[in-house]
Amino acid sequence: MSANDETENADTTVVAEPSVTEQATPDEKASEAPIADDAIPAAPKGGRRPMIAGNWKLNAGGADGCDLALAVARYAADHEETEVVVAPPFTAIAAVSNELYNKKSDVGVAGQDVYWEDSGAFTGEVSASMLRMAGATWAIIGHSERRQHFGETDETVVKKVAAANAGGLKCIVCVGETLDQREAGQTLEVIGRQVSAVVGELAKSGGDGVIAYEPVWAIGTGKVASPEDAQEIHGAIRKLLAETDVELAEQTRILYGGSVKANNAEGLLAQPDIDGALVGGASLEADGFGKIIEIAAKLARQGKNG
Ligand code: PEP
Repeated sequence: MSANDETENADTTVVAEPSVTEQATPDEKASEAPIADDAIPAAPKGGRRPMIAGNWKLNAGGADGCDLALAVARYAADHEETEVVVAPPFTAIAAVSNELYNKKSDVGVAGQDVYWEDSGAFTGEVSASMLRMAGATWAIIGHSERRQHFGETDETVVKKVAAANAGGLKCIVCVGETLDQREAGQTLEVIGRQVSAVVGELAKSGGDGVIAYEPVWAIGTGKVASPEDAQEIHGAIRKLLAETDVELAEQTRILYGGSVKANNAEGLLAQPDIDGALVGGASLEADGFGKIIEIAAKLARQGKNG
Protein backbone atom coordinates (compact mmCIF):
# COMPACT_ATOMS: atom_id res chain seq x y z
CA MET A 1 0.00 0.00 0.00
CA SER A 2 1.41 3.40 -0.89
CA ALA A 3 1.25 6.40 1.41
CA ASN A 4 -1.31 7.81 -0.99
CA ASP A 5 -3.51 4.78 -0.56
CA GLU A 6 -3.37 5.20 3.18
CA THR A 7 -4.84 8.65 3.05
CA GLU A 8 -7.32 8.27 0.28
CA ASN A 9 -10.09 6.45 2.05
CA ALA A 10 -10.96 8.71 4.89
CA ASP A 11 -10.99 12.42 5.46
CA THR A 12 -12.30 13.01 8.90
CA THR A 13 -11.80 16.02 11.09
CA VAL A 14 -11.27 14.94 14.65
CA VAL A 15 -12.63 17.20 17.32
CA ALA A 16 -10.71 17.26 20.56
CA GLU A 17 -12.16 15.69 23.63
CA PRO A 18 -12.55 18.24 26.40
CA SER A 19 -9.90 16.37 28.34
CA VAL A 20 -7.23 17.47 25.89
CA THR A 21 -6.34 21.01 26.66
CA GLU A 22 -5.66 20.22 25.49
CA GLN A 23 18.06 8.38 -10.08
CA ALA A 24 20.78 9.22 -10.66
CA THR A 25 24.07 8.15 -9.23
CA PRO A 26 25.38 10.66 -6.74
CA ASP A 27 28.16 12.51 -8.52
CA GLU A 28 30.79 15.08 -7.77
CA LYS A 29 28.40 17.97 -8.24
CA ALA A 30 26.41 16.85 -5.23
CA SER A 31 29.22 17.61 -2.86
CA GLU A 32 30.20 20.94 -4.33
CA ALA A 33 27.00 22.68 -5.14
CA PRO A 34 23.54 22.41 -3.68
CA ILE A 35 24.09 23.74 -0.16
CA ALA A 36 21.80 26.66 -0.50
CA ASP A 37 21.46 28.31 2.93
CA ASP A 38 22.13 31.75 1.53
CA ALA A 39 19.51 31.32 -1.15
CA ILE A 40 16.72 31.08 1.41
CA PRO A 41 15.13 34.50 1.92
CA ALA A 42 14.83 35.66 5.50
CA ALA A 43 11.49 35.44 7.26
CA PRO A 44 9.25 38.37 6.39
CA LYS A 45 9.54 41.26 8.83
CA GLY A 46 7.48 40.62 11.91
CA GLY A 47 6.59 37.07 10.92
CA ARG A 48 7.73 33.55 10.38
CA ARG A 49 8.08 32.43 6.78
CA PRO A 50 5.65 29.56 6.26
CA MET A 51 7.21 26.20 5.51
CA ILE A 52 5.67 23.32 3.62
CA ALA A 53 7.76 20.17 3.88
CA GLY A 54 7.11 16.91 2.09
CA ASN A 55 8.11 13.68 3.77
CA TRP A 56 8.27 11.10 0.99
CA LYS A 57 8.90 8.24 3.42
CA LEU A 58 9.75 4.98 1.62
CA ASN A 59 8.70 6.28 -1.79
CA ALA A 60 10.17 8.07 -4.81
CA GLY A 61 13.72 6.91 -4.15
CA GLY A 62 15.00 7.04 -7.71
CA ALA A 63 14.36 8.90 -10.94
CA ASP A 64 10.71 9.30 -9.87
CA GLY A 65 11.98 11.41 -6.97
CA CYS A 66 13.79 13.74 -9.38
CA ASP A 67 10.63 14.20 -11.43
CA LEU A 68 8.59 14.90 -8.32
CA ALA A 69 11.12 17.40 -6.98
CA LEU A 70 11.21 19.30 -10.26
CA ALA A 71 7.43 19.50 -10.36
CA VAL A 72 7.41 20.77 -6.77
CA ALA A 73 10.12 23.31 -7.65
CA ARG A 74 7.84 24.87 -10.24
CA TYR A 75 5.18 25.52 -7.60
CA ALA A 76 7.78 26.81 -5.15
CA ALA A 77 9.16 29.26 -7.72
CA ASP A 78 5.70 30.74 -8.19
CA HIS A 79 5.10 31.09 -4.45
CA GLU A 80 8.29 32.37 -2.87
CA GLU A 81 6.51 33.41 0.31
CA THR A 82 6.54 29.74 1.22
CA GLU A 83 9.72 27.89 2.10
CA VAL A 84 9.53 24.44 0.56
CA VAL A 85 11.48 21.38 1.66
CA VAL A 86 11.34 17.83 0.33
CA ALA A 87 12.61 14.77 2.17
CA PRO A 88 13.40 11.97 -0.27
CA PRO A 89 14.76 8.60 0.81
CA PHE A 90 18.55 8.68 1.25
CA THR A 91 19.06 7.04 -2.15
CA ALA A 92 17.60 10.03 -3.97
CA ILE A 93 19.02 12.92 -1.96
CA ALA A 94 22.07 13.57 -4.13
CA ALA A 95 20.20 13.25 -7.39
CA VAL A 96 17.27 15.40 -6.22
CA SER A 97 19.66 18.03 -4.83
CA ASN A 98 21.49 18.15 -8.15
CA GLU A 99 18.33 18.54 -10.13
CA LEU A 100 17.13 21.36 -7.89
CA TYR A 101 20.52 23.05 -7.99
CA ASN A 102 20.63 22.87 -11.77
CA LYS A 103 17.22 24.56 -11.90
CA LYS A 104 18.41 27.22 -9.42
CA SER A 105 15.56 26.17 -7.17
CA ASP A 106 15.33 27.27 -3.54
CA VAL A 107 13.53 24.07 -2.56
CA GLY A 108 15.45 22.59 0.36
CA VAL A 109 16.29 18.92 0.72
CA ALA A 110 16.03 17.01 3.99
CA GLY A 111 17.16 13.63 5.19
CA GLN A 112 14.33 11.67 6.82
CA ASP A 113 16.71 10.83 9.66
CA VAL A 114 20.34 11.35 10.62
CA TYR A 115 22.72 9.40 12.82
CA TRP A 116 24.54 11.06 15.70
CA GLU A 117 28.00 9.72 14.92
CA ASP A 118 29.89 11.25 12.03
CA SER A 119 31.61 8.11 10.77
CA GLY A 120 32.66 4.64 11.85
CA ALA A 121 31.34 1.11 12.19
CA PHE A 122 27.61 1.90 12.16
CA THR A 123 26.21 -0.18 9.34
CA GLY A 124 23.24 1.32 7.62
CA GLU A 125 23.49 4.75 9.20
CA VAL A 126 23.94 8.13 7.52
CA SER A 127 25.63 11.09 9.21
CA ALA A 128 25.02 14.83 9.05
CA SER A 129 28.18 15.44 7.04
CA MET A 130 27.13 12.77 4.53
CA LEU A 131 23.74 14.40 4.13
CA ARG A 132 25.42 17.76 3.62
CA MET A 133 27.73 16.28 1.01
CA ALA A 134 24.74 14.85 -0.81
CA GLY A 135 23.15 18.31 -0.86
CA ALA A 136 20.70 18.19 2.06
CA THR A 137 20.42 21.18 4.37
CA TRP A 138 17.70 19.78 6.61
CA ALA A 139 17.03 16.63 8.62
CA ILE A 140 13.72 15.34 9.92
CA ILE A 141 14.37 13.95 13.39
CA GLY A 142 12.14 11.94 15.71
CA HIS A 143 9.37 11.20 13.23
CA SER A 144 6.73 9.10 14.97
CA GLU A 145 7.34 6.22 12.54
CA ARG A 146 10.95 6.17 13.72
CA ARG A 147 9.81 6.38 17.33
CA GLN A 148 7.23 3.60 16.82
CA HIS A 149 9.08 1.17 14.56
CA PHE A 150 12.78 1.87 15.05
CA GLY A 151 13.18 2.51 18.77
CA GLU A 152 13.71 6.27 18.58
CA THR A 153 13.49 7.88 22.01
CA ASP A 154 13.76 11.43 23.34
CA GLU A 155 17.38 10.61 24.19
CA THR A 156 18.30 9.52 20.66
CA VAL A 157 16.37 12.45 19.23
CA VAL A 158 18.46 14.92 21.26
CA LYS A 159 21.69 13.25 20.14
CA LYS A 160 20.59 13.49 16.54
CA VAL A 161 19.58 17.15 16.85
CA ALA A 162 22.96 17.89 18.42
CA ALA A 163 24.73 16.05 15.59
CA ALA A 164 22.69 17.91 12.99
CA ASN A 165 23.54 21.24 14.64
CA ALA A 166 27.21 20.33 14.74
CA GLY A 167 27.13 19.16 11.13
CA GLY A 168 25.39 22.25 9.76
CA LEU A 169 21.97 20.72 9.14
CA LYS A 170 18.78 22.43 10.22
CA CYS A 171 16.27 20.21 12.00
CA ILE A 172 12.59 19.48 11.73
CA VAL A 173 11.94 17.79 15.07
CA CYS A 174 8.72 15.80 15.24
CA VAL A 175 6.61 15.51 18.37
CA GLY A 176 3.15 14.08 18.88
CA GLU A 177 0.94 11.99 21.09
CA THR A 178 -0.56 8.57 20.33
CA LEU A 179 -4.30 7.99 20.40
CA ASP A 180 -4.02 6.22 23.76
CA GLN A 181 -2.12 9.13 25.24
CA ARG A 182 -4.64 11.57 23.86
CA GLU A 183 -7.57 9.62 25.22
CA ALA A 184 -5.87 9.43 28.58
CA GLY A 185 -5.62 13.23 28.61
CA GLN A 186 -1.82 13.08 28.41
CA THR A 187 -1.32 15.11 25.23
CA LEU A 188 0.27 18.17 26.82
CA GLU A 189 2.40 16.08 29.13
CA VAL A 190 3.77 14.00 26.22
CA ILE A 191 4.38 17.02 24.00
CA GLY A 192 5.94 18.87 26.91
CA ARG A 193 8.36 16.03 27.52
CA GLN A 194 9.30 15.70 23.85
CA VAL A 195 9.80 19.44 23.35
CA SER A 196 11.67 19.94 26.63
CA ALA A 197 14.11 17.23 25.58
CA VAL A 198 15.24 19.20 22.53
CA VAL A 199 14.72 22.83 23.49
CA GLY A 200 18.34 23.28 24.59
CA GLU A 201 19.64 22.04 21.26
CA LEU A 202 17.06 24.06 19.35
CA ALA A 203 18.18 27.17 21.21
CA LYS A 204 21.71 26.58 19.93
CA SER A 205 20.48 26.73 16.34
CA GLY A 206 19.33 30.32 16.78
CA GLY A 207 15.71 29.91 15.74
CA ASP A 208 16.53 27.96 12.58
CA GLY A 209 15.11 24.76 14.02
CA VAL A 210 11.56 23.71 13.24
CA ILE A 211 9.16 21.66 15.35
CA ALA A 212 6.50 19.54 13.68
CA TYR A 213 3.50 18.71 15.85
CA GLU A 214 2.21 15.47 14.39
CA PRO A 215 -0.44 13.68 16.42
CA VAL A 216 0.37 10.04 15.77
CA TRP A 217 -3.29 9.14 15.29
CA ALA A 218 -3.49 11.60 12.40
CA ILE A 219 -0.49 10.36 10.41
CA GLY A 220 -1.47 8.44 7.31
CA THR A 221 -4.97 7.85 8.63
CA GLY A 222 -7.02 10.57 6.93
CA LYS A 223 -7.96 11.89 10.39
CA VAL A 224 -7.00 15.51 10.87
CA ALA A 225 -6.88 17.55 14.04
CA SER A 226 -9.35 20.39 13.91
CA PRO A 227 -7.64 23.74 13.31
CA GLU A 228 -8.66 24.95 16.79
CA ASP A 229 -7.40 21.82 18.44
CA ALA A 230 -4.09 21.93 16.58
CA GLN A 231 -3.72 25.63 17.38
CA GLU A 232 -4.16 24.88 21.06
CA ILE A 233 -1.25 22.44 21.02
CA HIS A 234 0.90 24.72 18.85
CA GLY A 235 0.24 27.59 21.24
CA ALA A 236 1.27 25.37 24.14
CA ILE A 237 4.49 24.39 22.34
CA ARG A 238 5.34 28.04 21.70
CA LYS A 239 4.68 28.86 25.35
CA LEU A 240 7.01 26.06 26.34
CA LEU A 241 9.74 27.42 24.08
CA ALA A 242 9.21 30.89 25.56
CA GLU A 243 9.92 29.53 29.02
CA THR A 244 13.46 28.88 27.77
CA ASP A 245 13.88 31.80 25.39
CA VAL A 246 11.26 34.28 24.21
CA GLU A 247 13.12 35.03 20.98
CA LEU A 248 13.43 31.34 20.23
CA ALA A 249 9.68 30.99 20.69
CA GLU A 250 8.98 33.88 18.33
CA GLN A 251 11.34 32.60 15.65
CA THR A 252 10.74 28.87 15.73
CA ARG A 253 8.35 27.61 13.11
CA ILE A 254 5.91 25.01 14.35
CA LEU A 255 4.45 22.88 11.57
CA TYR A 256 1.35 20.75 11.80
CA GLY A 257 1.50 17.24 10.33
CA GLY A 258 -1.10 14.52 10.02
CA SER A 259 -3.13 13.88 6.87
CA VAL A 260 -2.75 17.43 5.57
CA LYS A 261 -4.08 17.77 2.04
CA ALA A 262 -5.04 20.59 -0.29
CA ASN A 263 -8.65 20.42 0.89
CA ASN A 264 -7.96 20.80 4.61
CA ALA A 265 -4.77 22.88 4.67
CA GLU A 266 -6.23 26.37 4.72
CA GLY A 267 -8.03 26.16 8.05
CA LEU A 268 -4.94 24.75 9.70
CA LEU A 269 -2.44 27.14 8.12
CA ALA A 270 -4.60 30.14 9.00
CA GLN A 271 -4.05 29.51 12.73
CA PRO A 272 -1.66 31.99 14.33
CA ASP A 273 0.77 29.42 15.71
CA ILE A 274 0.69 27.01 12.76
CA ASP A 275 3.60 28.07 10.58
CA GLY A 276 3.32 25.43 7.92
CA ALA A 277 2.84 21.74 7.39
CA LEU A 278 4.81 18.53 7.28
CA VAL A 279 3.01 16.52 4.63
CA GLY A 280 3.39 12.79 4.05
CA GLY A 281 1.07 11.03 1.60
CA ALA A 282 -0.10 14.19 -0.13
CA SER A 283 3.48 15.28 -0.84
CA LEU A 284 3.84 12.45 -3.37
CA GLU A 285 1.50 14.15 -5.79
CA ALA A 286 2.96 17.43 -7.04
CA ASP A 287 -0.27 19.23 -7.88
CA GLY A 288 -1.88 18.61 -4.49
CA PHE A 289 1.35 19.48 -2.69
CA GLY A 290 1.70 22.55 -4.89
CA LYS A 291 -1.77 23.66 -3.87
CA ILE A 292 -0.73 23.51 -0.21
CA ILE A 293 2.35 25.62 -1.04
CA GLU A 294 0.04 28.09 -2.78
CA ILE A 295 -2.34 28.30 0.19
CA ALA A 296 0.52 29.00 2.59
CA ALA A 297 1.82 31.73 0.27
CA LYS A 298 -1.61 33.31 -0.04
CA LEU A 299 -2.04 33.45 3.73
CA ALA A 300 1.43 34.97 4.10
CA ARG A 301 0.56 37.65 1.56
CA GLN A 302 -2.59 38.37 3.50
CA GLY A 303 -0.41 39.15 6.50
CA LYS A 304 -0.86 36.03 8.55
CA ASN A 305 1.79 36.11 11.28
CA GLY A 306 2.59 39.63 10.14
C1 PEP B 1 4.21 12.52 7.95
O1 PEP B 1 4.71 11.52 7.45
O2 PEP B 1 4.91 13.29 8.61
C2 PEP B 1 2.78 12.75 7.76
C3 PEP B 1 2.24 13.77 8.35
O3 PEP B 1 2.11 11.86 6.94
P1 PEP B 1 0.62 12.05 6.33
O4 PEP B 1 0.55 13.45 5.78
O5 PEP B 1 0.52 11.00 5.29
O6 PEP B 1 -0.32 11.87 7.46
